[in-house]
Amino acid sequence: MKITFLGTGAGEGYPGLWCQCVHCSYARKHGGRNVRTNSSALVDDGMMLDISHACFDVAAVHGIDLSQVTTLLITHPHEDHLYPKHLLWRKANDEYIHYSYADQLHCGGPRFTAIPQLNIFGNHFVRELLESFLDDNYELRSAHLRDLNIQFNEIHEGISFDTDGYTVTPVRGNHVKPGFSHGYIIQKDGKTMLYALDSGLFDEDMMELMSKFQYDLIVMEGTSGLNRQQGGHMALEGNQFMLNYFKQKGCFGAHSQFVLTHLSPHWCPPHDFYKEIVARDGMLLAYDGMSIEF
Ligand SMILES: [Zn+2]
Ligand SMILES: [Zn+2]
Repeated sequence: MKITFLGTGAGEGYPGLWCQCVHCSYARKHGGRNVRTNSSALVDDGMMLDISHACFDVAAVHGIDLSQVTTLLITHPHEDHLYPKHLLWRKANDEYIHYSYADQLHCGGPRFTAIPQLNIFGNHFVRELLESFLDDNYELRSAHLRDLNIQFNEIHEGISFDTDGYTVTPVRGNHVKPGFSHGYIIQKDGKTMLYALDSGLFDEDMMELMSKFQYDLIVMEGTSGLNRQQGGHMALEGNQFMLNYFKQKGCFGAHSQFVLTHLSPHWCPPHDFYKEIVARDGMLLAYDGMSIEF
C-alpha cells in the first residue's frame, strides 16, 4: 500500500489565517514543508481519506489525479475534513459525455469525461451533514446522488466492511462527543494501516479493538503538539502513550512506522523544528505531498 498526504494541517491551516505568532510567521517566511493545508490523504490511487478544501489543489501541484477515486472514507463532518461542495463538480451533462470536446464545448460541463461511482463511507453525523447539504443545494436528493454518481454507506464502530479490495474497520473517537469521529483500520494484501484523526484519547473498548491488529503504518493526529491539554484532540504526550501501548501489545514491529499529521501552528512548532522533536520518539512528521510506501 501507499499513502500520499494531500494535507497535514489542522482546522486553522498552517500558518493560521489571521495569526502573526512566531510559528505562523516562520511558516510564511520559509514556506516549503512548514506550510500545511487541511488534512486529507490518498491511499494507493483509488481511496481518499477525508476531502478537504485544498486536497485537489495539492494533488494537482504533485501531478496526482483524484478524478478516478472510488472510495472516500470520512472521519467526521467538520469542514476541514469534509468539504462537500467539491462533490457538486462531479455533475455532467451525460447526453454529451462521450462526444468530442468540440461538441461538448457549448453544452457540456462542469465535467467532460467519465468517472466511476464514488462510494462514501462515514458515520451517521456524516450522513446528516451530506443529506442536509444536498437538500439545501437540490430539491430531489435521490436524483441528485445519481447525477453525481455517489453512493453513501453508513459505518459502525468495530464492524468491518469491504470496498475495492480493502477491508476497513471503523474505530470510535472522542472528538466533540463520543462517536462524532471515527478512525479507520485499513487492510489490503497482508498490509495494515490505522488512520485516526480528530480522535482524542480512545475509550478502553476501542483500545482493545485496535490492539487486535499488527500495523505496518499508524497515522495519528498530532494536533495539540506540545500543549498538555488534549481536549478532543491528541497532544504529543497522547501520541507517545499510544505508541507505547501499541509496542507493549505487540502491534508495532521493528519495521512499523508511526506518522503524525493534522498539526496546529499553535501547539506544534514549524516542520523544520518539530520533525526533530518527534524523531526522538521514533515518529515521522508528515508534510503536504509526502508519500510512504509500505
Ligand atoms: Zn480537524
Ligand atoms: Zn474536527
